[in-house]
Amino acid sequence: MVATNDTIAAIATPPGRGGVGIIRLSGVDAPKIAKQLLAKGSHAHDLGIREARFSSFLAEDGALIDSGILIYYPQPASYTGEHVVELQGHGGRVVMSMLLDRVIALGARQARPGEFTERAFINNKIDLVQAEAVAGLIDSVSSQAARSAVRSLEGEFSRNINDLLQRLVNLRMFVESVLDFPEEEIDFIHGAEVKEKLSDCVDELGKILKGAQQGAMLGEGLRLAIVGRPNVGKSSLLNRLAGREAAIVSKTPGTTRDIVEENILIEGAPLNILDTAGIRESQDDIEEEGIKRALNAVSQADIVLLMVEHEKDIGREEQTVLDMCPDNVTMVIVRNKIDLADNKQALLDKNRGETEVFLSAKTGEGIEDLVQCLKTIMGLNNTGEDVCMARTRHLNALSETKEFLKRGLQHLGNVNTLELLAEDLRLSQKSLGVITGNFVADDLLGEIFSKFCIGK
Ligand code: GDP
Repeated sequence: MVATNDTIAAIATPPGRGGVGIIRLSGVDAPKIAKQLLAKGSHAHDLGIREARFSSFLAEDGALIDSGILIYYPQPASYTGEHVVELQGHGGRVVMSMLLDRVIALGARQARPGEFTERAFINNKIDLVQAEAVAGLIDSVSSQAARSAVRSLEGEFSRNINDLLQRLVNLRMFVESVLDFPEEEIDFIHGAEVKEKLSDCVDELGKILKGAQQGAMLGEGLRLAIVGRPNVGKSSLLNRLAGREAAIVSKTPGTTRDIVEENILIEGAPLNILDTAGIRESQDDIEEEGIKRALNAVSQADIVLLMVEHEKDIGREEQTVLDMCPDNVTMVIVRNKIDLADNKQALLDKNRGETEVFLSAKTGEGIEDLVQCLKTIMGLNNTGEDVCMARTRHLNALSETKEFLKRGLQHLGNVNTLELLAEDLRLSQKSLGVITGNFVADDLLGEIFSKFCIGK
């Protein structure tokens, strides 16, 4: 882990013009540097403690760089846990960089992205989940995402993880004590007790994982692919969904050349629509290439809308896509062009389930039903106030832990495999610990913090 015996500095406010610009200093020399910045001659300055002090920030030759507010937070009661000084000057690019140059000349070093938060983590002010929530809050694209990030920042997600971790530690201690004293072999009663506790942990983990999936979705969005034969109405539907709230956030190239991602917000939750341009272009009804592309889109999606014309049967191509859809992908069959049907209302009345929706991309009838269906799939219809922001990294660790625990349950059945159970408990403890940062490799830390902005 990085040594923190130096003092870092950065402009904490966004670049550009603003009423106020803030420079943040953190480290052992922060108060000394601040005093020198204020000093004229040898006059010693009292910085005050967590007090706003109107001050003159001076160049080496005593010329005024700027005047503004200085606040000193002595360690450990600061964001980073170190001595922190905040200089609030005027928010201009040049004046801010002059001030930053000056504190660097006085002995500070330019901070790397996220380095203040990294120090807060190193000094145990926050854990890794909370550090990531800081970035999540800054990057939130919706109010729901921001609220979930604050909940993680307040430690709710970490508490759930730590509670579970504690239960696993207790179980492991018990199992290991039995191993240490083999003559007291795990008896029937204790075996049942361990099994019950372990099953409870698996259930609890399932709950945390579900919440985390929703939290990750709020932050990162789900990926939706629309597949179907040419002319079935895929691009019309895409335009309907995208235009519905005029909320196209951005167009980004997808992971393959022929897939473009269109990001829309549904009730504030990002939905990344995979625009499979390739399938649209194909003109043959039965076209292997089209199926290949559809399957490619399906393999990258969380939700697939399989479009057919309402009166038509599901054909061979659609069936192929349905059959090859992985378990973790939610498939909805969208029956389009109901405006052409005589029994339109009867078809619309069928829109209750989550697996099939009748609509008209042309007139918009039934679109609201599809949106409701998507909201249910995205978990937005039951958003309690308890979703915490999570990341893919957390989901992977939680899934891994679940596998270890399930394997442990199998090993429990046999006295001879108790050692394997102990090992599974150890591994699950370790993979849970990766989430909050108890067990974490330096390169992972580097990767996490490098995505932060400078000055945070
Ligand atoms: P794609 O090839 O699957 O992307 O289909 P398009 O969205 O380009 O639509 C193909 C044709 O079907 C266009 O002429 C659309 O206007 C028409 N179309 C799409 N949706 C509907 C619908 O709900 N009702 C009717 N009547 N026509 C539609």
